[in-house]
Amino acid sequence: MDKTTKAIHTPFQRRDAYDALQMPVYHTMAFEFDDADVMADAFCGRTDAPDYSRVLNPTVTHFEKRVANLTGAKEVSAFTSGMSAISAMILSTAAAGKNIVTSRHLFGNTYLLLTRTLKRFGVEARLTDLTDPEMVRSLVDADTCCIFLESVTNPQTEVADVRALAEIAREHGIPVIADTTMIPFTQFDANASGIDFQVVSTTKYVSGGATSLGGVIIDYGRFPEISERIKKDSVFNYGGYMTPHVAYMQTLGLETLQVRYDRQAASALKIATLLEKTPGVVKVGYPGLESHPHHKRFKEIYGDKAGAMLTFDLSDEAACFRFVNALKMIHRATNLFDNRSLAIHPASTIFGPLTPEQRESMDVYDTTIRLSIGLEDPDDLYADLVQAIEAATKD
Ligand SMILES: *Cc1c(COP(=O)(O)O)cnc(C)c1O
Repeated sequence: MDKTTKAIHTPFQRRDAYDALQMPVYHTMAFEFDDADVMADAFCGRTDAPDYSRVLNPTVTHFEKRVANLTGAKEVSAFTSGMSAISAMILSTAAAGKNIVTSRHLFGNTYLLLTRTLKRFGVEARLTDLTDPEMVRSLVDADTCCIFLESVTNPQTEVADVRALAEIAREHGIPVIADTTMIPFTQFDANASGIDFQVVSTTKYVSGGATSLGGVIIDYGRFPEISERIKKDSVFNYGGYMTPHVAYMQTLGLETLQVRYDRQAASALKIATLLEKTPGVVKVGYPGLESHPHHKRFKEIYGDKAGAMLTFDLSDEAACFRFVNALKMIHRATNLFDNRSLAIHPASTIFGPLTPEQRESMDVYDTTIRLSIGLEDPDDLYADLVQAIEAATKD
């Protein structure tokens, strides 16, 4: 069934008391029970009746069910942010003395979580080039608890061969955990490509125009011990469960997710293609372009829609700053996959607090601009880009 049809037609867990068509916001923190037996059953997890909204809430459950319906997952857990989902995932998988084999091109806070926060708890992050499976194989040992990858790295737009990494993980009986925020789960079959757990910042594509923070763990059920810890340790004890109003907004976002993605990805491809031929642009990074080094691999895993994030390089940092300052329509802001288009110079902002050596080791360059393409008409956007590039590159 088509993903948008599926997103819209996921049934409620129970018939609504007022036959509401849209899942209402159950903005209550506790739920009442008819008698002590029913109450005991609910608290001990023998039924799915909600008891307290830090651990179960009907509006959040419905959001989780829709994501499960769209992905074919065994279990979905929703959190207050992408980072909350990622930390719950890692804390449910790792332990003191264990190591995680991952990329040196990680989302900034994930990088700090793995290399700084978890280091204090005796977990080692082994950063490597995930596009080189033999290198990965040489780093995995008896103490490796998972391989952690990102579908498309930001801002390098690198695409790892998930299937090759999954094969290595299978040999060692460990899971592949993938942060697939960059490509919506409606666009590709993560389970079929060997991903065991997806973590997603639903703040981005899912929320429907940057309305709210959220995150999900999408679990395909191959590691029951870890699944148990996600629910029983992470949701219950760490306390990062999604809140009802956010779940309501993000459920609305799911209904338009693939429609928005189709338009944003088509616009991004059009703009990336035009930028490749635009005077003053040194290079363009977009996995949908045939010139991209991982274009073929991207297509095989994620299909022919390559997302709404692209990068391009100007001659130097000063030109990048002039470009950012000259934009008239595209907003100067971080975030990705808003309905409106956004531009940022990653080296001086997101990666600004790092040393030049750290930036260099992460392949974050002073010459790069990152764009997130929104729902506007691509010709309107390209016109703004061209005038800003001209203003930035004229002598
Ligand atoms: C934004 C983002 C995150 C963090 O998500 P939050 O919802 O901001 O906590 C993690 N990974 C990737 C790839 C992201 O783009």
